[in-house]
Amino acid sequence: MEKRITLKPGREEPLQRRHPWIFSGAIERVEGNPEPGDTVEIYSKDGAWIARGAYSPHSQIRVRIWTWAFEEKVDREFFDVRVQRALLRRAQERRDPTAEACRLIHAESDFLPGLVVDRYGAFGVIQFLSAGVEAWRGVIQDALLEQGEFAGLFERSDVDVRELEGLEDRTGLVWGSEPPPELEVREGDVKYLVDLRAGHKTGFYLDQRDNRRAIRPWIQGGSVLDGFCYSGGFAINAIQAGARRVLAIDSSETAIGQAARNAEVNRVPAGTVEWRVSDIFTELRSLRDGATSFDVVILDPPRFAPTSAHVHRAARGYKDINLLAFKLLKPGGRLITFSCSGGVTAELFQKIVADAALDAGVDAQIRKWLTQPADHPVATSFPEGRYLKGLVCTI
Ligand code: SAH
Repeated sequence: MEKRITLKPGREEPLQRRHPWIFSGAIERVEGNPEPGDTVEIYSKDGAWIARGAYSPHSQIRVRIWTWAFEEKVDREFFDVRVQRALLRRAQERRDPTAEACRLIHAESDFLPGLVVDRYGAFGVIQFLSAGVEAWRGVIQDALLEQGEFAGLFERSDVDVRELEGLEDRTGLVWGSEPPPELEVREGDVKYLVDLRAGHKTGFYLDQRDNRRAIRPWIQGGSVLDGFCYSGGFAINAIQAGARRVLAIDSSETAIGQAARNAEVNRVPAGTVEWRVSDIFTELRSLRDGATSFDVVILDPPRFAPTSAHVHRAARGYKDINLLAFKLLKPGGRLITFSCSGGVTAELFQKIVADAALDAGVDAQIRKWLTQPADHPVATSFPEGRYLKGLVCTI
């Protein structure tokens, strides 16, 4: 019997607009006992075929769509073609030849729901984030290895969303040679040591590449606070842009260790950056109480709201740190502030920052809007793909 999903009446509209997710609440009937990751045929209530997708019984996102073309089968050739297209787009559009690390496949927005692949020099890092791509892992790896020219391919499927899909964490070498414990990748005139095995995400925040450069014109000598510094990307760029003194804070000791080594690799003069392992919520308050001020404050916190269910708590978190940051600025200072929460829209984030300025008693101006780089595209049918928002504000 065909594995098929019938939607509730009137629930086909988002799908017809090619949104790639079907939530559990839109489904009327499941037939043919599909297993996790199986390909299912999607029908409207009145029996019209709409699409074909991957079934995920444990997730609220019950189906992720592979195709809206009836004649397109989901098989080896399907993955060969989609992987090839994503890689080709990157190859044709590679604007910055000094960027040795980039995203090759950006999941839903590259029409491969749940699949993330990043390149770090000669090495590839792969993440299977959904039951659908998990079921096709062998085929996807073959397609990548055929087309990607990697020295080694490493898996980093150790992300919280796998639990929602009913999948266990999985990491390790998939093919080829082991990546070195610290791989050096260049981004413009800065080098970073990246730990592909245990670093955050696939090792590095590739999505902040453009923004690490974009902050430079806003640094004119002076002092900088980098509030969530990870391996030091913004802090090191601030020094390159002429900052005299940077206080860089992260709650992770490993991250701070990596950041200090990155500073060395980039010959950051000793003593210009203070790397501090600490909780930023506490630090911002004690800096305020100590009447310390900065010319520039950069805030790039982790995801406070992974989904829209967490928006309220996230909004409070963003408001709190941005309010404190505004208070720490010298007259004429700049706040460069980010949100990477999928559940917080650009409009909401701007409103939170506006409220923070109001409560801090400063007149602030937004001077620039920042977002994710071109290798992290947003499919027009998938607005959720626009997750990284940044504002440069002056007071
Ligand atoms: N700007 C960085 C990425 C920052 S990611 C870059 O471009 O590479 C967010 C960082 O916030 C992580 O390194 C995480 O360890 C840190 N973090 C999370 N909670 C924190 C807290 N309460 N105080 C300080 N740092 C925190």
